[in-house]
Amino acid sequence: MARKPIIAGNWKMNNTASEGAELVKALKPLVKDAKCEVVVCVPAIDIPAVKKAIHGSKIRLGAQNVHFAEKGAYTGEISAKMLKEYGVQYVIIGHSERRAYFGETDETVNKRTLAALNAGLTPIVCIGESLEEREGGLTEKVLDRQISIDFQGIEDFSKIVIAYEPIWAIGTGRTATDEQANETIGYIRKRMKKVYAHKNVGRLRIQYGGSMNAKNAKGLMAQPEIDGGLIGGASLKAEDFAKVVNFDK
Ligand code: PEP
Repeated sequence: MARKPIIAGNWKMNNTASEGAELVKALKPLVKDAKCEVVVCVPAIDIPAVKKAIHGSKIRLGAQNVHFAEKGAYTGEISAKMLKEYGVQYVIIGHSERRAYFGETDETVNKRTLAALNAGLTPIVCIGESLEEREGGLTEKVLDRQISIDFQGIEDFSKIVIAYEPIWAIGTGRTATDEQANETIGYIRKRMKKVYAHKNVGRLRIQYGGSMNAKNAKGLMAQPEIDGGLIGGASLKAEDFAKVVNFDK
């Protein structure tokens, strides 16, 4: 079965609830004929307003993080069950900003991913190397470590999405070339097949993320290993995001 492309916006800490609702209202008509899955991952407090605003459209709702515990004394955190009850379908886990600024580790990424899956959410798990690691020839070593820890215990890889996000390309305007992105995602897929054989890895979707935008989306999406994109800056304007979603038009 072909892997359906998935384009997801990561708004990060941008857009109040009313701004978010306006953004998706403008986006709705622009993506109504999209062939790919379209997701917006919004700040938690925007979820109710955005949910209402996307009603009746192709746009699906995603969150930007989830805690691994079912409930309890975790001030400020949000559980998978809470997200699910609100109609959230996807959740970004292990974004490099969370790893860098909020102490996220491969172990907590793994726990969050399993919690999301248990609640019926689709995790979008971010992995990728820093500039230092790439320049030091360590890309594959870093990816191998992330692959071996972040996905432990997952039985069906058709239920998750991986976002390969080279950290040096996030928010920098410096995109990986089509070939670089394709080659590294090809490596991730090969490694996943080896480490998680017989766990439906053939249906695993792997996105590219890192300064993907209206101009470079078509070239990146034409690459055989790339199944979609995780889009930061270019998801904050409806017209820009729609151009990425409509990469095939
Ligand atoms: C991201 O935050 O996941 C991202 C890819 O950001 P940007 O598109 O702005 O580089």
